[in-house]
Amino acid sequence: KSFKELGIVEQLVEACDNLGWKNPSKIQAEAIPHALQGKDLIGLAQTGSGKTGAFALPIIQALLEAQHAFFACVLSPTRELAIQIAEQFEALGSLIGVKSAVLVGGVDHVQQSIALGKRPHIVVATPGRLVDHLSNTKGFSLRTIKYLVLDEADRLLNEDFEKSLDQILNAIPRERRTYLFSATMTKKVQKLQRACLRNPVKIEA
Ligand code: AMP
Repeated sequence: KSFKELGIVEQLVEACDNLGWKNPSKIQAEAIPHALQGKDLIGLAQTGSGKTGAFALPIIQALLEAQHAFFACVLSPTRELAIQIAEQFEALGSLIGVKSAVLVGGVDHVQQSIALGKRPHIVVATPGRLVDHLSNTKGFSLRTIKYLVLDEADRLLNEDFEKSLDQILNAIPRERRTYLFSATMTKKVQKLQRACLRNPVKIEA
């Protein structure tokens, strides 16, 4: 099936085309129709499967109708992955003017606070730095978030992140969609899934 046949709107099909994405990857073909129907998702998928597009396309498509700041929050275990995810959001959303901010360690807090002041649609973050900003950046909150993505959830569940993850989940409204992606389905991931997702659809790359 083509992106169009999966339900992706013309503007976004064009953005995929510009990126050289002619056809959906397997995980995209499985995820997108369920996501567009408003389902929560659990995706078993590795980097390289096209999982970023699988969650970014439905989120941007929903953003087209909602058009508000702090619409989606994506959690990533590493700085590099967070940057790549934000780049894909910006590339796919370029025709629509999607703004994102990346909140990761090892980078100046002030710059990131300025980026948040511009009221981005998408926040891509590592858990520790996101919690920092929730406590210290005036006017920043997750109260309007409609989509939460837990990317590489198995790696988000290490001890360093556990406390931050709890705080973040408490700061995001329950009334939202949640997409959890993981390379492996461990006991801890299943526990997180039960705590965060509602009647999820399970898909595999
Ligand atoms: P990911 O698994 O999301 O990290 O994506 C891995 C790479 O595949 C990235 O460079 C994407 O730009 C690329 N990619 C994602 N979806 C597609 C697609 N449908 N067709 C071609 N390349 C893609």
